[in-house]
Amino acid sequence: MQKGVNLATIAKATVDVAIDHDAQFMRLALAEADKAAALGEVPIGCVLVGQDGTVLARGHNLRETCSDPTAHAEVVAIRRAAFVRRSWRLDDATLYVTLEPCPMCAGAMVNARLGRLVYGADDRKAGACKTIFSIGDDARLNHRFPITRGVLDRECARRLSIFFAALRAQLKK
Ligand SMILES: [Zn+2]
Repeated sequence: MQKGVNLATIAKATVDVAIDHDAQFMRLALAEADKAAALGEVPIGCVLVGQDGTVLARGHNLRETCSDPTAHAEVVAIRRAAFVRRSWRLDDATLYVTLEPCPMCAGAMVNARLGRLVYGADDRKAGACKTIFSIGDDARLNHRFPITRGVLDRECARRLSIFFAALRAQLKK
């Protein structure tokens, strides 16, 4: 028996399972994005998952519905999870969101001492975790967290392009 080969196989299998889990939870975030779209909101969805794989909270964009500039999917989910746990600290949780977080949401993740972030599509206009800023990976801030990017990014981006194409078509009428 070649021990080295087996260990490599096990290591690869572990990575594959982690990738599967990320895709699985991103699908839940996409379902949240669909709920936002059904309300006429920009379709962005989020789930927060605990270390044992339980979903702590879900959230979707509610900016128009609540007339609240801070009601982004991530802030909605972070508030719900902290409320349920009666703790502002989410250092064992992973946040899945369909679009790269904006500066406000990335800031909320720093303040929640988030454990890990997984996002789908990059945001060229407001992305604060790679594209414009690197919140989450900035040594000047008092908290950093690992980030996995591009999970189901095409599906996440497609939701947004369909939404904005429909919006443009409606404005032309
Ligand atoms: Zn945001």
